[in-house]
Amino acid sequence: MRLFAAVLPPPARQDELGLVVDRLHRLPGADGLRWTSRPGWHLTLAFMGEVDEELLPELRVRLARAAHRTPSFPLRLHGAGHFGRRALWAGVAGDLDELRLLAERADAAARRAGIPMEEHRRYQAHLTLARPRREEVDLHPFLDELATFEGTRWEVGELVLVRSNLPVSGVRGEQPRYERVEGWPLAGPAGRPG
Ligand code: ATP
Ligand code: MG
Repeated sequence: MRLFAAVLPPPARQDELGLVVDRLHRLPGADGLRWTSRPGWHLTLAFMGEVDEELLPELRVRLARAAHRTPSFPLRLHGAGHFGRRALWAGVAGDLDELRLLAERADAAARRAGIPMEEHRRYQAHLTLARPRREEVDLHPFLDELATFEGTRWEVGELVLVRSNLPVSGVRGEQPRYERVEGWPLAGPAGRPG
């Protein structure tokens, strides 16, 4: 199964972003983008790809440990960015050092569970909103509209393992695109025992 570890913004925080994204949908050129579906919005920590089911028990133990080692920390959705012409995303602000550590721990957990992990570029936290259908789509109007977005902060308290069901062409998927497999609590507020 195709798996990744993620932080899921709470529904109220997703709704705030949703209001802005509703405006983006009405901008000229919006139909040149493939918009991600809202119940699936997530911040990827570590992408594992296809994982042998036999590795799951070990992966669970290691992810639980990664979560337990990480104090909960504040985060908020903030601004926007893009990966070249491939993806438009909302950014985050807050305790980005702790977020990066959590991403590194999730990556190490997967590696130690026996999952061959890609070498990756510097971790860039993002919530993918849309992917251009064609190269020539101009992302600037969308980036401008998102630039001043500031979400309300929340306390990240959980590391979530998510299963990704790739769309089967021609078949309308009955299962959700992304399914929560399991979540593990972070250690609790820093400075206090979890
Ligand atoms: P689709 O591939 O159908 O466009 P998707 O990219 O959202 O949709 P997945 O490819 O299963 O679905 O990826 C799940 C999550 O992991 C997404 O947030 C995606 O951006 C991220 N991801 C996918 N591949 C990688 C990778 N090689 N490195 C880092 N993150 C990745
Ligand atoms: Mg993908």
